[in-house]
Amino acid sequence: MILKTMIKMDSKNLLYEGKAKSVFQGENPDEVIIDFRDDMTAGDGARKESMGQKGYINSVICAKIFETLEAEGVKTQLIELCEPCVMKAKKLDMIPIEVIVRNIATGSIIRKFPFEDKAPFNPPLIQMDFKDDEFHDPMLNDAIAIALKIASKEDLDTLRELALKVNDVMSRMFKDIGIILVDFKIEFGKDKDGNIILGDEISPDSCRLWDAETLDMLDKELFRQGKDDEVIDAYEEVFNRLLTEEDKKKWGI
Ligand code: 5GP
Repeated sequence: MILKTMIKMDSKNLLYEGKAKSVFQGENPDEVIIDFRDDMTAGDGARKESMGQKGYINSVICAKIFETLEAEGVKTQLIELCEPCVMKAKKLDMIPIEVIVRNIATGSIIRKFPFEDKAPFNPPLIQMDFKDDEFHDPMLNDAIAIALKIASKEDLDTLRELALKVNDVMSRMFKDIGIILVDFKIEFGKDKDGNIILGDEISPDSCRLWDAETLDMLDKELFRQGKDDEVIDAYEEVFNRLLTEEDKKKWGI
């Protein structure tokens, strides 16, 4: 934990503080250090709690998913998980778009459109939201994204292609451990050469995950529904199913 303490104390290196992560300048100008915090928010930050061990669990789950995606040819921001909670990553110029992939209809999509609850989407539904708290992350279309100058048509096509690939890899990964990947949100950025790279995080904070047998929720939806005392147990369940003994040894868990 020495590394984490040193980085936290060095607040002059803080580049960005999000709702659940802090991003610090790394030693190399092209690198950042991401601190996964225990903070959990809902309703555009209206409710905020500290959930013990969440940063630890999410950072490890995210590293495992990013490593698996890399092995399948999806470029991610991950350089290495220095220790649980602390990730060394490529510095990216983030694109303010939340790319959401849905395999099953639930959540905001059934509040906004007349889809039947729990109906499967085949092919998966890709949605893009403008990442902006002030405007409450409104849904985008290509014309709006291009007019806002946040992405070109080519960028948008690349985001969709990568999002489907991420969905394929992750759906298989979770199916193997008895979990249904219902939907998820991902974010991308550009590296110094303009390549589009998967950034931010993938964890139970940003996915809906259901146990394949019981359909129990294993993600942040529990917190959104006020079931705060069930959150960490659910995240631990995902962690325990996903991590191999080899992973645990590698990350000193
Ligand atoms: P919905 O639009 O149904 O609320 O969410 C769809 C999926 O995207 C869910 O898996 C949800 O966790 C994720 N998602 C949507 N917006 C956000 C966000 O602002 N932050 C996080 N962490 N996940 C989000």
